[in-house]
Amino acid sequence: MSNYQPLTQELAQELEKIVGSSDFQIGEGINPDFWHDEMPIYGSHSPEAVVFPANTEEVSQIMKLCYDNDIPVTVRGAGTGLVGGCTPLHGGVVMCMMNMNQILEYDMKNFNVRVQPGVLLSELAADAEAHDLLYAPDPGQKLSSIGGNVSTNAGGMRAVKYGTTRDHVLAITAVMPNGEVLEIGRPVTKISSGYSLLHLIIGSEGTLAVITELTMKVLPLPHADLSLILPYEDLETAIETVPLIRMAGLDPRSIEFMERDIVDSTAEYTNKKVFPTEVEGREAGAYLLVTFDGSDEEELMARAEALSEIAYESGAFEVFVVDHPSQKADVWDARSSFLTVIESEPGLLDEMDVVVPPDKTAIFLRYVHDVGDSHGMRIRSFGHIGDGNLHIYCVKESDDQQAFLAESAEIMKAAYAKCEELGGAISGEHGIGYAKKQYLADAVGSTQMNLMAGIKQIFDPKGILNPGKVCTEL
Ligand SMILES: Cc1cc2nc3c(=O)[nH]c(=O)nc-3n(C[C@H](O)[C@H](O)[C@H](O)COP(=O)(O)OP(=O)(O)OC[C@H]3O[C@@H](n4cnc5c(N)ncnc54)[C@H](O)[C@@H]3O)c2cc1C
Repeated sequence: MSNYQPLTQELAQELEKIVGSSDFQIGEGINPDFWHDEMPIYGSHSPEAVVFPANTEEVSQIMKLCYDNDIPVTVRGAGTGLVGGCTPLHGGVVMCMMNMNQILEYDMKNFNVRVQPGVLLSELAADAEAHDLLYAPDPGQKLSSIGGNVSTNAGGMRAVKYGTTRDHVLAITAVMPNGEVLEIGRPVTKISSGYSLLHLIIGSEGTLAVITELTMKVLPLPHADLSLILPYEDLETAIETVPLIRMAGLDPRSIEFMERDIVDSTAEYTNKKVFPTEVEGREAGAYLLVTFDGSDEEELMARAEALSEIAYESGAFEVFVVDHPSQKADVWDARSSFLTVIESEPGLLDEMDVVVPPDKTAIFLRYVHDVGDSHGMRIRSFGHIGDGNLHIYCVKESDDQQAFLAESAEIMKAAYAKCEELGGAISGEHGIGYAKKQYLADAVGSTQMNLMAGIKQIFDPKGILNPGKVCTEL
């Protein structure tokens, strides 16, 4: 049982002394953005104070002070999470990592880069490129932090070729809940040295330790890329093409899918039509967006031709090559704004981020659409179809949040059960946070939940770090 204590004036003063008054917010001075992440529908809670540490030493001092005094601490990156992960359910202290935002050093001979956790994904990607290197993970939200990406094991567009964020972490500096500093992992490509604490911390959503420095892999930059838009009559036909692309060994960097209605909404929102909606009199119902990368343009064209053959045989209306830089930017800007577009529409929204074996995606999506229809709920979807990771949104024009959440919970329960039946998992990349805890427990059962809770107990016997998330009671 937790024994959390309120933040006394004396402790608040000590915290302020550690970070300095310009990096300290308290009471009414707290920006309400720190009450929630990008899904405030999962709860909005005011912390008692927000601190912005500048280095590992300050993080360690903050954690020790809070640990010794039973003050809950919730770590926050850029706050773009979608499962209530950085929401301070128990008040206490929010520790925002965004002042620790330096790219520290590239090791060009060993292909890695040391960064602080508050570096933005967009900054690291651009900086690596300026060094002729690729930082491969590419989650859709470019303004998320690398610390947040590692803590949620963020996936994104390129996971089908390069893997998820997890596959790019070599070493972590982490501060334990009691303030002790750990150096975990090494900047080497192979390690077989005991249990992997590195991989326990990756994806632990700020419940085990605070990440204060990371060594991430970088790769030689591929200098060429090519995207192709494939319109289809419907979702099923589009999705059936995906295993064929992979089986042909074409090594795509990404395979994204989108339904027609999200393409229409995005065109309206951005005032730019980048996906063709009608091809020779036929209306497109769904699309694949396939991207290849490499160093040789001719070789990419050969892969594109092989893809075209497969696509036409499997029912694509046409294959549109996106090679002009401005066209490329438009297409990827449109793809990256899908969630923003759905969020901008009136009404309420709840989301799922399931992953199913790629060959089961069409069955799963059809099932969820049918369940949604039977509840009068609009279902909208897009996602990383190459790895079976689907973003599915329940959307309704309503202002009755409680009734909406009860209804969407019924749909989600059915959908997650179907996902289990098909061999999938609750979350492919957004994590569990607070919102998906019960669904995780239903899916994995008590033995696995108890193992997770036991690990949490070893790292954090007082349960002060990010309480109420993933596997811990409220
Ligand atoms: C428009 C949009 C598109 C998105 N697209 C994708 C996508 O394609 N793929 C994807 O995976 N996600 C996506 N996301 C979700 C989100 O961007 C990711 O979950 C991201 O990794 C969160 O990073 P953050 O810095 O915002 O973390 P936050 O939201 O601040 O925190 C997320 C979790 O990480 C913990 N945490 C953060 N920093 C640290 C740290 N230094 N130490 C310990 N714990 C920490 C927090 O406690 C919390 O549990 C999208 C979100 C939006 C709004």
